[in-house]
Amino acid sequence: MNQQRSEELFREAQRFLPGGVDSPVRSYKAVGGTPPFIVKGRGSRIFDVDGNEFIDYVSSWGPLILGHSHPQVVEALKKAVERGTSFGAPTELEITLAKIISAAIPSIQMLRFVNSGTEATMSALRLARAYTKRDNIIKFAGGYHGHADGLLVKAGSGAVTLGIPDSPGVPSGYARNMLTAPYNDATAVEQLFELNPEKIAAVIVEPVAANMGVVPPRPGFLESLRNLTSRFGSLLIFDEVVTGFRVAYGGAQVKFEVAPDLTCLGKIIGGGLPVGAYGGRKDIMEMVAPVGPVYQAGTLSGNPITMTAGIETLKLLHQPGFYEQLENKAASLEKGIAIAAARAGVNVYISRVASLLTVFLTGDRVIDYESAKRASTAAFSRFFHSLLAEGIYWPPSQFEAAFVSFVHSEEDVQLTIGAIEKALNSL
Ligand SMILES: *Cc1c(COP(=O)(O)O)cnc(C)c1O
Repeated sequence: MNQQRSEELFREAQRFLPGGVDSPVRSYKAVGGTPPFIVKGRGSRIFDVDGNEFIDYVSSWGPLILGHSHPQVVEALKKAVERGTSFGAPTELEITLAKIISAAIPSIQMLRFVNSGTEATMSALRLARAYTKRDNIIKFAGGYHGHADGLLVKAGSGAVTLGIPDSPGVPSGYARNMLTAPYNDATAVEQLFELNPEKIAAVIVEPVAANMGVVPPRPGFLESLRNLTSRFGSLLIFDEVVTGFRVAYGGAQVKFEVAPDLTCLGKIIGGGLPVGAYGGRKDIMEMVAPVGPVYQAGTLSGNPITMTAGIETLKLLHQPGFYEQLENKAASLEKGIAIAAARAGVNVYISRVASLLTVFLTGDRVIDYESAKRASTAAFSRFFHSLLAEGIYWPPSQFEAAFVSFVHSEEDVQLTIGAIEKALNSL
């Protein structure tokens, strides 16, 4: 694969941007090599500066469930841009998107839009602490909730990939307020509650873990968290930044029928533009300024461009059969990979929830962070580069989800399975 222009740009980028990127995982540090510099995306494909074309399974890390530059979203955005990009004043678009979200996720009676998932989780924790008048938070090892101070404790995503689970620069006092338990281990959570009576403000969890690779909740796990938080007077926060409108219309709480007190959203609800939101019970949300004393603000929050992309995207998702068709594509990919792995004689553990999928290069079952880490990252690098050379843009880390989108065709899926068989054969 010719990467001459990308190599030049990557060298230049590193002079001005740390690692040449604005988010660590994009630099390919975990797998080595040069990331293709992208010029354009259309449907399921992206195109780089050297003229290479790829079938994309990163999908901007989740938002692009409709693929790249969906004509209806692009058309609406053009019109919105002509009317003005930001007013710092209320618009009707914010009500429209809030109503769509609230109708899809009944536990969200009221919400606040922000500009990233990080802002959403950070603000939700502040609110939970204010509401309960407690300081401690329980999170799960390998759970990623953005890069806010205090949440970078045993975090997933880029933090696993780079091997810096605890970032320098986070005051030790922040980290002390975070208690961690293994994912899928409700007994460990119960013990933390018993050891810290009336100190725990909230449990924050990805209802389907997607940042240590995909790890589904065990049956009963989310229900146990619901019961424990209620019993001990603390709040349950679902971080649905990835799973919201991804694993079902609405999200994981609709799919698994467990309602949290607060929900964090991002990614899909912005249709590819920067976004986040947090919301939940009205009595809790009414503690947020200006109604209540919990301060949180944003110059560009709820801006008309993001709201427009979100509204158009969610409208397109709310069509009969959308999620079934999407899941069928992902299921056929999963099945093809399993057959390819058997033929290649390579042990893999394929973990899939709806259109989120990780191929762990291990023969063992993956149920939490410890078991995820048993996968071979060295083998993954070879697997990844073989796919890239075959025109498949797979997430550049063993501990990330591949995102199947609605525009992946049967042909895309078959090409991908072929490339995966070749990649597994070369391990
Ligand atoms: C991506 C992600 C975040 C952070 O969102 P940003 O918009 O990158 O700040 C938070 N939680 C989860 C579960 C995520 O996947």
